[in-house]
Amino acid sequence: MHEISLVKNIFGSLDSVYPEPQRRKIRSIHMRVGLLSNVEPILMQNAFEAVVATERKEYSECKLQIEVLPIKVFCTECQKESEVKNYKFVCACDKPNNNIIQGNELLISGVELME
Ligand SMILES: [Zn+2]
Repeated sequence: MHEISLVKNIFGSLDSVYPEPQRRKIRSIHMRVGLLSNVEPILMQNAFEAVVATERKEYSECKLQIEVLPIKVFCTECQKESEVKNYKFVCACDKPNNNIIQGNELLISGVELME
């Protein structure tokens, strides 16, 4: 389950930015996860809860908020971006397209701290 190591990496990044006791004031961590990133939000939530409960109790007041980003491609012929549905990589103009401009994201987009 690679979500566990992803969660540990997230805490690792936060550790370097937020030293104790500031870390205890973090109330939510926002993530952006593209549909192509191979991350299942529900598994990510479960992994988050497991890691917090076992080795990261300082984050027990913190919630993980995951925003799933759809896959988007950009078509150079019609100069339009379109959303990829059902993994069909075609533009709205019906041309095959694998010029991905969104969908691979896996990043922390924001952190909210208690006042
Ligand atoms: Zn097009």
